[in-house]
Amino acid sequence: MKLSNSRRPRKGRERHKHLTYFKLEKALPTPGCPICNLVQASIETFFDAFLYEKVNDVGLRTRFNADAGVCNRHAYQLLGCHDGLAIAVMYRPLLELAVDAVGRGADAPGNRGACFICDTEREAEERYLSALAEFLDDKELESSFVSSSGLCLPHYELVRRRAPEMPQWFVEFHTGKYARLLEGVKRYLDAANWSLGEKRPKLTPEEERVWTEVIALYSGYAGMPPRSNR
Ligand SMILES: [Zn+2]
Ligand SMILES: [Zn+2]
Repeated sequence: MKLSNSRRPRKGRERHKHLTYFKLEKALPTPGCPICNLVQASIETFFDAFLYEKVNDVGLRTRFNADAGVCNRHAYQLLGCHDGLAIAVMYRPLLELAVDAVGRGADAPGNRGACFICDTEREAEERYLSALAEFLDDKELESSFVSSSGLCLPHYELVRRRAPEMPQWFVEFHTGKYARLLEGVKRYLDAANWSLGEKRPKLTPEEERVWTEVIALYSGYAGMPPRSNR
């Protein structure tokens, strides 16, 4: 089975594996969706660098002020970094504008849902999605990937939209993964169904926890932006 779209792949020999590809390959043995893990790691690295040396970066501060701060999601991530000085420095001018606007009876300023950290997040996600889509037909990638946890459903769909072709192994691997989770959920529900009497399955400790995988698989990482326009 070959599911193809209009873009044709470049042949393996013409491609060079790049840093992003190697980072992706290195992330595969870690449990969980590798793209989710890599995007979250990129954001953490960005926060570290930003708070350590870039709080006074003129370009970033201009953008921060123009956006009226960062989005709600990233504001709370910023709060979680416990860097009081950085928050005080960055938000002081915004609060001055707010005090002035409220005092004049003008519109109160506020972020509209996008920020420079959203951009960083999207860029990191796009890099890893594109690297994976580009090398889906690579035998080395295939052999490492089939030992991984595989992709969450949102990232599977985003790779599907970018891949020149969806190889059979990739489709089958994910179909199997999602079907196993579904079977696990059905067994879990059967185990809770007392009307089955003796037919109620006895769950292993691992099966008892099947529900903990459902949200990460179906929705991606905590705070993942909506799929639209990606
Ligand atoms: Zn994911
Ligand atoms: Zn944001």
